Amino acid sequence: MSDSYTLHIPNNGEKSILNVFDFDNTLFRSPIPNPKLWDSSLLGPLTAFQQINNGWWHDIRSLQLGEEVENSMWEGWWIEDVVSKVRQSMEDPQSLTVLLTGRVRDIFEDQILRMVASKGLIFDLVILKYPIHYDQVRLSGEESHSTTSFKKSIVEGIITQNPSIKHVHMWEDRPTHVLKFREAIAEMIACGRIQNGSVIQVLDPPSYMPESVEKRTVFDMVNEHNSFAEDWLKVNFNKQLPAGAQIPKKIELNTHVKYTGVFFSQDITDFILDRYLPLLTNDVNISHWTVSADHVTMCLFRCPEPMLDKSGGIGALVYVKVLAIGQYENRVWALKVGEVSMPDENTECCDNIPTNTQESCANIGHLVSNNPIPHITVVYDQTQGAKANESNLITDWRDLPPSKQHILGGTIQEKIITGIKKAPSPPPPTKAAVSLGTLIKQHYPEIKGPEIGKMVKFVQLRMSESGITNSKDNEDRITTLIVTAPAME
Ligand SMILES: [Mg+2]
Repeated sequence: MSDSYTLHIPNNGEKSILNVFDFDNTLFRSPIPNPKLWDSSLLGPLTAFQQINNGWWHDIRSLQLGEEVENSMWEGWWIEDVVSKVRQSMEDPQSLTVLLTGRVRDIFEDQILRMVASKGLIFDLVILKYPIHYDQVRLSGEESHSTTSFKKSIVEGIITQNPSIKHVHMWEDRPTHVLKFREAIAEMIACGRIQNGSVIQVLDPPSYMPESVEKRTVFDMVNEHNSFAEDWLKVNFNKQLPAGAQIPKKIELNTHVKYTGVFFSQDITDFILDRYLPLLTNDVNISHWTVSADHVTMCLFRCPEPMLDKSGGIGALVYVKVLAIGQYENRVWALKVGEVSMPDENTECCDNIPTNTQESCANIGHLVSNNPIPHITVVYDQTQGAKANESNLITDWRDLPPSKQHILGGTIQEKIITGIKKAPSPPPPTKAAVSLGTLIKQHYPEIKGPEIGKMVKFVQLRMSESGITNSKDNEDRITTLIVTAPAME
């Protein structure tokens, strides 16, 4: 189907158009570690190069989404708009269709070829990045593996070896890459190598693995990293390493409460999206936005006891009524909510809400929130860099008519996430303003090594007994202790 190693297409006639497709998050929704499961202390090292193993983007497991997803041929994981551009390109005799990715060839080639074949995509070329000698890079810290430089050199190589190409189009998701490729194409046009070209930016919200798959993947990665770090240090502990060497460090995970809130079931989240998305999509295209709609935040971290007591505690059922809809700078949409008492049978509300049952009567809580306006963040545009908590900046609230003021029921829960346990910080350096060893040598020039050590210990003991701290102000008192000390045997 493809030739990964030569850029020349000898038998395909005189093609005039080069279409280059990136893989991750351009053609395929490659998952990233989910910030709902891991805190930033772990997310950063997981995705960075060679901090935990060789890093997420160099680990085959980052594309292994579990049997169920693979059996479905990754259904729902393809970015269909781009898939149809690939198909158009495949069918156009004038177009050369290329998949070009910064994923490393020896790790990912089989997997990526299998994935695109399952989708019926046929590329003239599938080009992955050259293999990286990970151990060497770790020891030297020197090798550069810039994906943009790699891709630019490949595109230039294809054009040089296929002079019939006059038009270059690239599909790419990362804004910094889009800018660099636009510059590169402008240069190729300016120097007359091609007639025109474009870089089409693909916007798609981040995707995450099924939760159980992701947890297993990350825990396995961390365990492997820790074994690797231990073995690596045994082998390399006495080597002189250059300053840039990436020394693997063992890590320990711990969990903590990210925030406490009123959490909704998936049914209620679906209800929210069904009833309220149509109200905010009139003139905004939110197809690539990130959906939340699953909780009302009460407080960051674990709620203080008095607040939790006031709310009814963990597990309490809280009813809220949707009062208004609001947005902030076209980046985030939210629903303002207020507490209501338990709905009666005549109240119009989500069908899935438990109503006046014995069970729900048992532990009815109250909506208590540190946010000035308690709300449900519904959607936000991560492709613009928006964060869910920007909903706290909303001042543009539009009241809803009573017919749209639905009542929703959720339970108070803590959102637990996993991060890296911090190493205990070293004790602050004591300000040893007086060097006991130096003072001792001044007054007893005849005594040597072990005797000085004994004298230091003795003086420290006497200082401690007398409440004398080691500071310049106490130098005279310390000197007195030294000159009055008995001879050290
Ligand atoms: Mg990409």
